[in-house]
Amino acid sequence: MDTTTARPLDGRTALVTGAASGIGRACAEALAEAGARVYVVDLAADPAKEVAERIGGQAIVADLADPAAVDALPDDADIVVNNAGLQHVAPVHEFPPERFVLIQRVMVEAPFRILRRTLPHMYAQEWGRVVNISSVHGLRASAFKSAYVTAKHALEGLSKTVALEGAPHGVTSNCVNPGYVRTPLVEKQIAAQALTHGIPESEVVERVMLDRPAMKRLIEPAEVAALALFLCTPAASYLTGASLPLDGAWTAH
Ligand code: NAD
Repeated sequence: MDTTTARPLDGRTALVTGAASGIGRACAEALAEAGARVYVVDLAADPAKEVAERIGGQAIVADLADPAAVDALPDDADIVVNNAGLQHVAPVHEFPPERFVLIQRVMVEAPFRILRRTLPHMYAQEWGRVVNISSVHGLRASAFKSAYVTAKHALEGLSKTVALEGAPHGVTSNCVNPGYVRTPLVEKQIAAQALTHGIPESEVVERVMLDRPAMKRLIEPAEVAALALFLCTPAASYLTGASLPLDGAWTAH
């Protein structure tokens, strides 16, 4: 091998969910740049194909709310990034139960199903990396986000359990916990947040999203991807079972 061009993830295969947009897309790009072959898994067909084509990966169009579709995903990934997610903003007493269930399906059950199928491959080769894109909402609650906060706290539990079970097999599992990241998921929330909090849309970013972090700016998707990539490098091989806030000191309060 020409060591001058060797990259840290050459020869590795990564599966990234929700890889057609936002943080997932940034993770897929960063992992591919580091040498991994990436399965770009998403519900959105055209954007997934576009990302896969650009990074030399493989698009897989799947609805992670459908257990059968999740169980048909490839089981040979060395790296899994559980990232796909969605938000719904409403008080508990007005929260539609079917949205609550959908959010748990996509953000908790799908990661579990993906891991139960990919961990045997990782264990067999005694190397694997699980990166769960949690949130500051995996560590703290916010009003009007019951389904999302519930799902992210559950993902934290899954991640830690996989860390314990995976350690003897060379598999690490961690959560990355960002505050507000500049993605379509956040942009779509602005109108709903304005309505629920009873404030104008123009004030949502400053008064709701940037109220708690000490750093008064949104995070860029590439900053989250850089941390996810670090967790897949040899320098992070003893780093497992952790939840890493990327939150501008939000959780320092
Ligand atoms: P995004 O809306 O930009 O991207 C989410 C992707 O997930 C989309 O491509 C969407 O098509 C896909 N997806 C949604 N439901 C799906 C389903 N049923 N099946 C398959 N794919 C599906 O969102 P984002 O902001 O990049 O969020 C990605 C992850 O990061 C989520 O888990 C989110 O909770 C987490 N996160 C986001 C922020 C933020 O501020 N944006 C902060 C902390 C954590």
